[in-house]
Amino acid sequence: MDEIILMKLGELVLKGLNRRSFEDKLIANAQRRLKHCGSFKVYSKQSTMYVEPKDDSCDMDAAWEAMKRLFGVVGLSRARACAKDKDAMLETAKTYLHEKLSTARTFKVEAKRADKTFPMTSIELAQYVGGELHDAFPNLSVDVHNPELTVHLEVRDYAAFVHADPEPGAGGLPVGIGGRAVSLLSGGIDSPVASWMMAKRGLALDMVHFFSYPYTSPEAKDKVIELARLITPWCGRLTVHVVPFTKIQEELRRSCPEELFTILMRRFMMRIACRVAYRVGAGALVTGESLGQVASQTMSAMRMTGAVCDLPILRPVVGMDKEEIVRIARKIGTFETSILPYEDCCTVFTPRHPRLRPLPGEIEAAEANLDIEALVDEAVKNIERIQVNP
Ligand code: ATP
Ligand code: MG
Repeated sequence: MDEIILMKLGELVLKGLNRRSFEDKLIANAQRRLKHCGSFKVYSKQSTMYVEPKDDSCDMDAAWEAMKRLFGVVGLSRARACAKDKDAMLETAKTYLHEKLSTARTFKVEAKRADKTFPMTSIELAQYVGGELHDAFPNLSVDVHNPELTVHLEVRDYAAFVHADPEPGAGGLPVGIGGRAVSLLSGGIDSPVASWMMAKRGLALDMVHFFSYPYTSPEAKDKVIELARLITPWCGRLTVHVVPFTKIQEELRRSCPEELFTILMRRFMMRIACRVAYRVGAGALVTGESLGQVASQTMSAMRMTGAVCDLPILRPVVGMDKEEIVRIARKIGTFETSILPYEDCCTVFTPRHPRLRPLPGEIEAAEANLDIEALVDEAVKNIERIQVNP
């Protein structure tokens, strides 16, 4: 009960007049992520957000883990509350930060007062506590410029808080502040990373997955649901729209030139994702495409897939090398699941010689054989929606 989490807000403090709505969004997101950890009071003051447990049943470790993944927070620390008294703060520092104080070689104390009626100035308070800690921990010497450990003392209206340096937060902007997008989630490495990156920039996401049963197995679908679940600690709860894609693929294989198969299939993916986007009120699509990675990820292929959909297509990993994408996948914990060896709907029907640059009119000619609207309607009608919770 006497421990709280302090969070430093990121870019949103720069947003001037919008600041209030940014903070409100962040507080709402925090509150939702904290639900499974107990009952908390969350509020912000002077670009710091306070997460206070309402009773002793709160799981502070779980809350800490949840807040480390909250987009919009640049730094966070656990702080111990105590009486607004110089010796109470000293004793709290000695016990609460005992391990850090015993192992650091250099330190300083920084004090802040929101309560201006406190009888000492910030400098006097820092000097007093710093001097006493110096005496109590012989391993420590003072370094005001580049200390290993900074002991922070904050005298606020109703209590004082003691904490060490903040740890890095998730950064970015609060999820939802930038609107909603539909992310095309395959079972690969790239699309979970792309989704995570756009959520980090403040987008709420719906996932679309194209499923080619029986060419791809139920395990392949479970893997995608698991990938969605793995990013919910950052993105919040998600809906995965599982689109039955087999009929469209069989239709393409039956009636279209094999070398155009991939690009035609991807145009259907975009059309269907776009329809899902209209339905859920999303303003963009997200894909894990990276320029030049495979035949369907050239500029001209992107032009042709983008042409069937009037929403912007966000491709956050477009300029990244595979290694860079893998590094993020490992950091966010999706990599090990992504590399599980289940077939993807794209690999099942891969043409032997995909056309890199279709001629003008070629795509339209191939599609002229198809009842595009009917195929899209039927796929959309049979979407299975799966809720994925953190
Ligand atoms: P990933 O690692 O994300 O699977 P990839 O390198 O395998 O990407 P492609 O298979 O060409 O590349 O897919 C490019 C993008 O198209 C994916 O990042 C994803 O956004 C989308 N996509 C591909 N297959 C599917 C699918 N079955 N369901 C939903 N989206 C898909
Ligand atoms: Mg793939």
